Amino acid sequence: MVNTENILTDSYGRHHNYLRISLTEKCNLRCTYCMPANGVQLTPKAELMTSDEVYEIVSLFVKHGVTKIRLTGGEPFLRKDIAVIIEKLSQLPVELAITTNGVLIDRYIDVLKKFGITKINLSLDTLVQSKFKHITLRDQFVKTYQAIQLLLKESFELKINVVLIKNFNEDELIDFVELTKYLPVKIRFIEFMPFDGNQWNVEKLVSLEEIMQQLNAHYNPSEIVKLIDEKNDTAKNYKIESYKGSFAVISSVSNPFCDTCNRIRLTANGSLKNCLFSSTETSLLQQFRDGKSIEPIIEKVMKRKHRVRGGMDSLAKLKEPALHSQNRSMITIGG
Ligand code: SAM
Ligand code: SF4
Repeated sequence: MVNTENILTDSYGRHHNYLRISLTEKCNLRCTYCMPANGVQLTPKAELMTSDEVYEIVSLFVKHGVTKIRLTGGEPFLRKDIAVIIEKLSQLPVELAITTNGVLIDRYIDVLKKFGITKINLSLDTLVQSKFKHITLRDQFVKTYQAIQLLLKESFELKINVVLIKNFNEDELIDFVELTKYLPVKIRFIEFMPFDGNQWNVEKLVSLEEIMQQLNAHYNPSEIVKLIDEKNDTAKNYKIESYKGSFAVISSVSNPFCDTCNRIRLTANGSLKNCLFSSTETSLLQQFRDGKSIEPIIEKVMKRKHRVRGGMDSLAKLKEPALHSQNRSMITIGG
C-alpha cells in the first residue's frame, strides 16, 4: 500500500520539493563538457513527453509537495512549444525558473514576463569570444553576451553558470568576479562533473579550495564577504564588499551537499532520476500513457535514492569511469 503522503521523501528523511525537467535532448551549442563528441542518440519524438504530458505529470509531483520547478535541457528554448509549456505550468502553485544558454531567449522575453518567470540561470564559461567557440563549438558569444545585457535591462534576476576547467578558463575567475562590481548578477562557479562521454578527469577540476586560494590571493580576505546560504542551497555564496552582484561555488565533486538534497529530475522522455549522478532511472511515461498510476513507481524510485551522489560517495569512486559512464550524458539529463 503506497503512502501517498510521503512519496517524495527518501529513506534518509530528505523531502524533495524541487523538480528539474529536461524538455529536450537537443541543443544549439555543443559544450564539450556536456555533449559527447559523437553527439547523442536522440529519443524518437513520439517517446518524448508532450506539453500536456509534462503538465499532467508535473501536476502529480506538485500534489505531493513539489514547490519549485526548473525547466532545462538540452536547450529548453529549442522546444517549439516552450511558450505553451510555460503557460500551462504557470497555472500551478510553484516557483518556475529556467536554465538556458541564452541564444534564443530574446524571442521569449514577453512570454517569460507574462507567465511570471523572473529567475533565469544562463550559462557562459568564458568572457573571451575565441574561447567561447572552442568550448561550445559554436560562434554564439555575442548573442549570449547580448542576452545577459537584455535580461538585466528587463530586470530579470540573473545567475550566470560558469563551469571551471583547468587550463581553459580558471584564469578568468577574477574577471568573472569583477563583472559583479557593476552588474547585479550572481556568478556561480560550478566544479566540472563527470558524465558519460565528457572526458572528465580529476586533473581538469578546479576545486572549491583552489577557487578560494585564487580569491584570497587577489582580494584582501576581509573584502570577501561570506553570505548566508539558503536552506537546500547547493552553492556557497559570497560577495566582494561594495560590489553590486555576488558569486557562489557549487562544489558537487570536492564537497558534495547531498545531506540537504531536495532535487529530483524528469528527463525529456519521462524518466525519473532521483539524483543527478544516479546510474539508474525509471520510466514514468509508458505507465502514464497506459492510464496506470505512477505514484507507486515514484515512491519506489525515491526510496532507492543513495545518501551521496548516486552511490559514488568518495572521490575515488567518482574517478572510476565504469561508475559514471553508466549514467546518461549531461545533455540528456538536464543540469
Ligand atoms: N542549455 C542550458 C544551459 O546550458 O544552461 C541548460 C542545460 S545545461 C545541461 C545546464 C547546466 O549544466 C549548464 O549550466 C551547464 O554549464 C551545466 N553542465 C553541463 N555539463 C556539466 C558538467 N560536466 N559539469 C558541471 N556542469 C555542467
Ligand atoms: Fe547545450 Fe547547455 Fe549542454 Fe552547453 S551546457 S551543450 S548549452 S545543454
